[in-house]
Amino acid sequence: MSDKTEHAPIPEKFQALGVRNSILRALADLKFTEPSEIQSLLIPKALTGVDLLGQARTGTGKTAAFGIPLLQMADRGVGTQALILVPTRELAVQVHEEIKRIGQHTPIRSMAVYGGEKIAAQVRTLKAHPEIIVGTPGRVMDLLDRRLLSLANIRFIVLDEVDRMLDIGFREDIRNILSRLRGMSERREENGDEHAARSHQTIFVSATFTEEIERLARKYMHEPVEKLVAPGADDKPTVEKVDQSWYMVQPWDKYRLLRLILKQEQPELAIVFCRTKHGADKLAKHLTHDGIACREIHGNLAQNKRDKVMKNFRTGKFDVLVATDLASRGIDVADISHIINYDLPEDPEVYVHRIGRTARMGATGKAISFAAKDQGDLLTKIESLINMVIPMARMEGFEPSPEPNRQPRPEDHIPVSTEPSAAAVAQEKKSTMRLGARMPVTRRRRR
Ligand code: ADP
Ligand code: MG
Repeated sequence: MSDKTEHAPIPEKFQALGVRNSILRALADLKFTEPSEIQSLLIPKALTGVDLLGQARTGTGKTAAFGIPLLQMADRGVGTQALILVPTRELAVQVHEEIKRIGQHTPIRSMAVYGGEKIAAQVRTLKAHPEIIVGTPGRVMDLLDRRLLSLANIRFIVLDEVDRMLDIGFREDIRNILSRLRGMSERREENGDEHAARSHQTIFVSATFTEEIERLARKYMHEPVEKLVAPGADDKPTVEKVDQSWYMVQPWDKYRLLRLILKQEQPELAIVFCRTKHGADKLAKHLTHDGIACREIHGNLAQNKRDKVMKNFRTGKFDVLVATDLASRGIDVADISHIINYDLPEDPEVYVHRIGRTARMGATGKAISFAAKDQGDLLTKIESLINMVIPMARMEGFEPSPEPNRQPRPEDHIPVSTEPSAAAVAQEKKSTMRLGARMPVTRRRRR
């Protein structure tokens, strides 16, 4: 037992939000002295029991914002009372770990449940009915079907990354889980419990919301719903501290440019995002072959491998994580200095989440994106979402190469210092015009 006087001072600003002592002690241990904006807004409101929609930028402590009130309101030993649904297994582990840390001096237990882990391994812990469960929708449904998990005592339901949870991929699962919950309250109501209709409190959070998602989300909530928006979250969803840039690069030149960037930037920790699992695999192999310490993570890897990769990345065992969008949401690893969009995301919102893996909690970071000539529209969509123009960067000493497997054309060679021939000038004009029509004109429109 450590001497009491060794404890860090109680974080008074959290105390002022109504947070109880056992939690304050953990916050002091964790050096959470100042609540973030979303925490200041959400914690006291959540403690009053209303349904909440919370929006705040990536890396601003949304997990603790809902985790603290849950830990405070749950009661030990009366079944599973809080269900937190998250989109990926990695996030389930991470959110659970954060809640465990914050709840270390409380009697409240949390558990992560996710696919890929043998159910048998989870049964024993489940039988102890942990007060808080953090899980992916698929596994939660599975556990409900097998009656290993019961919603009978659920009083709190949280959807983290709610816009992802309610988009097409997960919508049915969420609807299923939430309607079981509703069925449960209706039954309680029939049995004469007047408060049954409000038997659970709903908290939904994300960095990004569309109107459609908000409308959909509200269908699962009890009015009056309070919408809490941390300053700056809605107009510029991007972490402003991220230093963003993009390179115009054709697909066949991307790898070469990536190598140059890694060499020049010497990232502390970087995530390189690829569109496909196969692409991520290939890129990681290539980099490894070239002596760069990297690993890949995507949905085709076995879960134990995924867990190991994340653990080793967190502890800095390698510098470059090559990932699919599996890692674009919520993942919180300290000191990620660079995000590289090797492939641009199709969905502009995903861009915001990807680059939100860096510059967390006031740190700084860089986001570098690769765009091919015909991806101007996509870049423009991203720019209008984040409401800013991303500056274009150039790499010293990087010359675009002609498309492989075709005859070189004169415009492939852009003369640098020598006087170009009239034909080359004409050709080049043609090509820049084509390029200009696709990129800068659309991109530079005023906002
Ligand atoms: P978000 O969900 O908003 O993207 P996270 O909940 O993942 O952000 O939090 C980002 C990081 O900030 C985590 O490492 C978390 O432990 C830390 N953190 C959260 N709240 C505070 C605080 N009040 N003071 C210091 N660090 C905090
Ligand atoms: Mg989060």
